[in-house]
Amino acid sequence: MSFVKGLKCRECGREYPVKLLAGCEDCFGPLEADYHYEAIAKVLKRDVIASRPKSIWKYRELLPIESEPQIGLGTGGTPLLRADRLGRKLGIDNLYLKNDAVNCPTLSFKDRVTAVAINKALEFKLEAVGCASTGNLANSVAAIAAAAGLPSFIFIPHDLEKTKVIGTQIYGTRLIAVKGNYDAVNRLCIQIVDRYPWGFVNVNLRPFYAEGSKTIAYEVAEQLGWHAPDAIVVPMAGGAMISKIHKGFKELQRLGLTSETERTRLYGAQAAGCNPIIDAVKRGSRDIRPVKPNTIAKSLAIGNPADGYFAARLIPESGGWAEDCTDQEIVGGIHLLAETEGVFTETAGGVTVAVAQKLVQQGRIKQTDLTVLAITGNGLKTLDALDMAPPQVIEPKLAAFEEVFGGAYHVA
Ligand SMILES: *Cc1c(COP(=O)(O)O)cnc(C)c1O
Ligand SMILES: [Zn+2]
Repeated sequence: MSFVKGLKCRECGREYPVKLLAGCEDCFGPLEADYHYEAIAKVLKRDVIASRPKSIWKYRELLPIESEPQIGLGTGGTPLLRADRLGRKLGIDNLYLKNDAVNCPTLSFKDRVTAVAINKALEFKLEAVGCASTGNLANSVAAIAAAAGLPSFIFIPHDLEKTKVIGTQIYGTRLIAVKGNYDAVNRLCIQIVDRYPWGFVNVNLRPFYAEGSKTIAYEVAEQLGWHAPDAIVVPMAGGAMISKIHKGFKELQRLGLTSETERTRLYGAQAAGCNPIIDAVKRGSRDIRPVKPNTIAKSLAIGNPADGYFAARLIPESGGWAEDCTDQEIVGGIHLLAETEGVFTETAGGVTVAVAQKLVQQGRIKQTDLTVLAITGNGLKTLDALDMAPPQVIEPKLAAFEEVFGGAYHVA
């Protein structure tokens, strides 16, 4: 049974039945799934949720699918790790990592959105699926489409990291590299969707796809014993995830699963080389001025963010803020997280850590705030961003080792 009422334009409120649609036909605003919350409240209780296996489908009444999920059954349910050692470095007493670097099947938060979109593609009985991607979505769509037995067409900017290219091709997808940045790729995909009977997860399946991001909020709240955090730091590309995390926390309150009084401040993070949402927040505006991306955080390199307008409104409304960081600070953030918590994240996670550090220094995140950092991708995917000295090579002799390490028995 489905609890979805239909689709609703976030801009003008026009309602649509459940169908393939990229945006509002009147105002081009983004469409959002709307639910029968009273009916959901009757069935979705804390003990019911606790009894279900760990995955995004624990909260399936709040996801826009009609039938049992067929694919992506192992997606979500990632660890919420207490991060005391990093917390001491940053000056936060109550710090947690939501670790989507180990999300399944492709080690990024994108598996959440793709799993929902491809189940929807199966319900719509589409012939093929596809996406415009900055890398992680390409990996995820290729993998989950393969598992669903659906052909896929995946479009990426031509200059992506090699690991993300191979990590897409391996699934037998049709991968097309486009001369241009993500925004050019996206425009091409909009034209393709107009002509072919395919479902592109972030174009005409976008209203369903985007809902998958809400599961981060559900999981964090459940893992905190049904509490919303005081602050969450979220890396932003198109701005969808941060908007949906906000929606997720609101829904939990509406369903009585968390307290009405707990309020989460949303903190958005981008790289300085692609910071259109940060720029809007700092100007006190919602109008996004598109930029030409130039950063090592390629997974976040969307110069004209589709949900930027909403993110730029929600962030200050929630009492949060937005901040960016340089490429050098991103690398510093990756190292700091790995060395303090043993978590290896990609460039987007480096952005989150570096921005969190700034927000504490600015006094926006307080020492006592229960703070969650959204670690959204795996470090093995962006090795190119790191410049590590090769390890020392020695002869296989104890004397050679002692020559290198000076024979000191106790490690300082
Ligand atoms: C896509 C992506 C994001 C941000 O997603 P949006 O919803 O487009 O803002 C964050 N982190 C990683 C690793 C991503 O791949
Ligand atoms: Zn509209």
